[in-house]
Amino acid sequence: MNNIRKGDMVKVIAGNDRGKRGEVHSVDPKNGRVVVAGVNLVKKHQKRTGDVRTQAGIIEREGPIDLSQVMIVCKSCGKPTRVGFTFEGGKKSRKCKKCGQFID
Ligand SMILES: [Zn+2]
Repeated sequence: MNNIRKGDMVKVIAGNDRGKRGEVHSVDPKNGRVVVAGVNLVKKHQKRTGDVRTQAGIIEREGPIDLSQVMIVCKSCGKPTRVGFTFEGGKKSRKCKKCGQFID
């Protein structure tokens, strides 16, 4: 069950970037990976391509981390939390297990 979606605020709970918070840029449910803004920055060497929009040199960009390394941060109580699911009006909604408020 994948309960983290693009645009969610998450906290990193394991690895080098433990304690960092950021917005989810993309989720790869198939591989169980997630890309979070400002987390797991990887240096990449960018060669000059002749395209003025391409910055040559070393650029940093986010690399994917494991979904198990992040926890969603509840907008209501501001705490990293586990997510519960409820069905209301035939729609599945996510709920914070700490304060009981809806996340969606
Ligand atoms: Zn909450």
